Amino acid sequence: MSTPTDTHRMEKIVSLCKRRGFIFQSSEIYGGLNGLWDYGPLGVELKRNLKNYWWRVMVHERDDVVGMDGSILMNRAVWKASGHEDTFSDPMVDCRVCKTRMRADQVIEKKGARQCPNCGSKDLTEPRPFHLMFKTYVGATEDESSITYLRPETAQSIFVQFKNVLEVSRKKLPFGIAQIGKAFRNEINPRNFTFRSREFEQMELEYFCRPEQGMELLEYWKEERLKFYENIGISRANLHVRNVPNEERAFYSKGTYDIEYDFPFGRQELEGVAYRTDYDLSQHQKASGKSLEYFDEETKQRFIPHVVEPSAGVDRTVLALICEAYSEDEAPDEKGKMEARIVLRFHPRVAPIKCAVFPLLKNRESLVVKAKEIVELLRPHMYVFYDESGAIGRRYRRQDEIGTPFGVTVDFETLGEKDSSLLNTVTLRERDSMKQERVKISDLLELLSVRIA
Ligand code: ATP
Repeated sequence: MSTPTDTHRMEKIVSLCKRRGFIFQSSEIYGGLNGLWDYGPLGVELKRNLKNYWWRVMVHERDDVVGMDGSILMNRAVWKASGHEDTFSDPMVDCRVCKTRMRADQVIEKKGARQCPNCGSKDLTEPRPFHLMFKTYVGATEDESSITYLRPETAQSIFVQFKNVLEVSRKKLPFGIAQIGKAFRNEINPRNFTFRSREFEQMELEYFCRPEQGMELLEYWKEERLKFYENIGISRANLHVRNVPNEERAFYSKGTYDIEYDFPFGRQELEGVAYRTDYDLSQHQKASGKSLEYFDEETKQRFIPHVVEPSAGVDRTVLALICEAYSEDEAPDEKGKMEARIVLRFHPRVAPIKCAVFPLLKNRESLVVKAKEIVELLRPHMYVFYDESGAIGRRYRRQDEIGTPFGVTVDFETLGEKDSSLLNTVTLRERDSMKQERVKISDLLELLSVRIA
């Protein structure tokens, strides 16, 4: 399934990302490097908010999951055992008709056209290098014995630490180990802005269970993950679940769902939720010679646990958040005349800046002092931004464009100059509705905390 693409919308999003400091091309002053991106001052906040919320719901709010943070470089034996070293080593081509996967050198060339050797179809994918791993050397000598790879996924460090984590956490099945970290793939064709990058971050959970629980937990995690996306402001209508058919699944997987999102460039994968059976732990047990079995106290049985893996991309989700939030509407200017506005309608939970604080005039010290007091009051609890330059409408507009959900203005009423009953109250403006309410400064922290939680 694919959705219509909207190139124009995507161009506007990419340009906003650069203009307002969400995402820059890596090494830009040297002409960049394909498939690599840097997050600017606002992008890094958005990304952190996303990762923190994932960690909160996947680890802190559960009794059955613990976290870890593994190294990026690991013993090469890990990648041999996991199958990555072998299966990532050839450029592969898929036939879209008969689904045969072949090495690029097995493709038949007839009159300049490429053909599938199995069914004769010309509908072939471009070669995809299955040597996606970046090779490097550890130590002073650059020879065969010092080779390793930048990890292409975070999952393997979880599998190889399974026994250690099990022992220290004293968890019983089913339980999970979560990790957020960098992964690297030398993608042949990085594209669609940050969607397919060569360096990216993953948020992965390996949820270990008994064999008979696998299929049920696959369904459970698919639903949990859909809820997650809705809770960060992605509408259900733009999310789709693809039940990955047998022929596309890894041979060891008994079921895989792709959670997809309607990006402006089409419907694409955000996350894979896969039931990987006991494949990974079995491989590492075999290759390392160390037992990775679980001992069940009640039944006195020893067995290798099965695993369900929800594996999400941080960068793809950040991009989805920006695409989802981007909108254009109209707002009144200083004189009440309607003008176009760009607004990022981020869920307050993920918005980079939670609240902007403005003194009505920058040359009235009493207003400035009060506004700065409010900044100090809120700062330990959320990321706030102080802005005193330009007309107030302009200041609102600048915040709308970066998705700040709340704006607080300190005016003469705050100082009690017009009506003493309004002393120490401010206007609180909400980004999407543009509604303004008068609230007490003493109520502000609680009011905002609830809305950004
Ligand atoms: P794709 O088919 O799009 O290459 P994949 O199925 O190979 O993705 P997985 O190996 O399942 O991806 O990785 C889990 C998640 O990691 C993906 O759902 C995605 O969010 C993220 N991811 C994988 N490759 C990239 C990449 N090159 N750039 C950004 N994110 C990625």
